Amino acid sequence: MPRTKPATVPPRRCIFCGEGGTQGNIMTEEHYWSTWIDELLPKDLKPEYIEFRAKITAKGAALAGLPLSRTRQGASNTRRFRVVCRRCNNTWMSGMDTAVIPHLTPLILGQPATLDEEAQRTVAKWVTMKMLVIENSSSMGSAPDPIFGPEVRKAFMDHRSIPAYVTIHLAPCAGPEWPKRVQRYASALTSNRTAYWDGRIKNTQSLTWGIGRLLVQVDATTQGDVAPFFARHPEHFIMSQLWPLRGGPMAWPTKPPVSDRDADSIARALNDMIRTPLVRLPPGAPNWA
Ligand SMILES: [Zn+2]
Repeated sequence: MPRTKPATVPPRRCIFCGEGGTQGNIMTEEHYWSTWIDELLPKDLKPEYIEFRAKITAKGAALAGLPLSRTRQGASNTRRFRVVCRRCNNTWMSGMDTAVIPHLTPLILGQPATLDEEAQRTVAKWVTMKMLVIENSSSMGSAPDPIFGPEVRKAFMDHRSIPAYVTIHLAPCAGPEWPKRVQRYASALTSNRTAYWDGRIKNTQSLTWGIGRLLVQVDATTQGDVAPFFARHPEHFIMSQLWPLRGGPMAWPTKPPVSDRDADSIARALNDMIRTPLVRLPPGAPNWA
């Protein structure tokens, strides 16, 4: 009988290189609010981490109004994730962190800036790195529910390849609610009733990240048939697309700032989408929370 690792045991190996957990290369902590970000933000700002996990039933193979569980934690910058090894953390990951500072600092502070294509690519890769860390982080004792597999993380580590069907939008953000908030929503979706269910439970996620005066929205799915549905979401209208690159420099601010209410509706858009009949759960899909 093959032994299955209990779902609640967090990974003890580096999510990128698969190594670590040894004396010469211990696992280290990685969190979304890098030290340089913390230093830019007001000290009294309370970080928030909000996570939605869809609760889906396969009745009639269609998704209906679905209950959601919600997690809110008051101090997301103290949440640290032992998901990467020291070698990765101290080499290519810290290199990416350092490279992005000059490009993101003015955006976080709400200052004008010009991001040429190389800068845009640097920012997009950094956001992808953070997404891969965040989706592999457990919350409230639940097992991580990443949508991307180890081969995607390996490709990212080796070549900084951003996976297909990842879209990143940026906007200035004006309200008091979002300067230090991460909101993630993960779900399992398909537009095809007869699609083969590969057992990888979640395949689609939305990550909304307020960093000072900057709002970052990541839409990601592994399903090509689901990707077009994101195009209806508000980020496509009130934010600026960073990835895939549109070509040419990005003169910041590119658009008027989004309000807290706008940011809320962007963060909620994937949740709203699965309440429509456009997207369906394939037959035989398990019920899960
Ligand atoms: Zn590693």
